[in-house]
This record gives sequence, structure tokens and C-alpha cells, in this order.
Amino acid sequence: MPEPYWPKKRKGEPYKLSKALENRCFAHIRCRYCKVKRIYLIEDLIRLLGDIECDDVTDMHRWRCTNCGDLNIECRFNPISAAERQHTVFRRLVEVRYKKIPIWSDETVP
Ligand SMILES: [Zn+2]
Repeated sequence: MPEPYWPKKRKGEPYKLSKALENRCFAHIRCRYCKVKRIYLIEDLIRLLGDIECDDVTDMHRWRCTNCGDLNIECRFNPISAAERQHTVFRRLVEVRYKKIPIWSDETVP
């Protein structure tokens, strides 16, 4: 029987970032266009996005490639061995800045 094209129902609880952190995973985020791959720490993603489902990291937050600006991003959560970690460059979250955007309306004084 062929596989259905619609999403299958999820069984069990969703795989959240906190679970990935428990499993000592790292977020491997790669641009499908320019093939640049960066590795993020899960605790940085939780600090930025909250404890959301892993599937929603790049999809819901319109993650853009910092190299080319493309939205076609793939994200995988895999552990890295201790030997590999010594040679890996991680992309760390330095700070989060919020923009103050004024919204005005024209009203008559009552
Ligand atoms: Zn790119």
C-alpha cells in the first residue's frame, strides 16, 4: 500500500527542545540553497524561542539563512561525539534585541 501524502498522526508526546537537550543533541541547521551548515546549542534555541517542538524551530519562525537569506532551511537534531565537539564551531546566541515600533492612530479628542 502506498504511503499517504498527508501528514501522519503523531503518536505520543511531541519532541520538544527540552527533550533534545536531555538527549544531548545539537541543532544542525543547513541551508538547502548554499549548503552552509551551522550547529546551534539547544539551550540557546530555548532561550530564543522557548520550549517549542523541534519541528517548529525553522518552520514557524521563518528561519533565514544568514549567508543568502533563503528560507529553504533543513534542521536536524543529532548528538555530537566528544571527539567531534573539539573541532566543531558552534553558533552561539550573544543577545536578543527587541525593536520598539510605534503604532499611531488619528483620533479626535472627546
Ligand atoms: Zn543559504
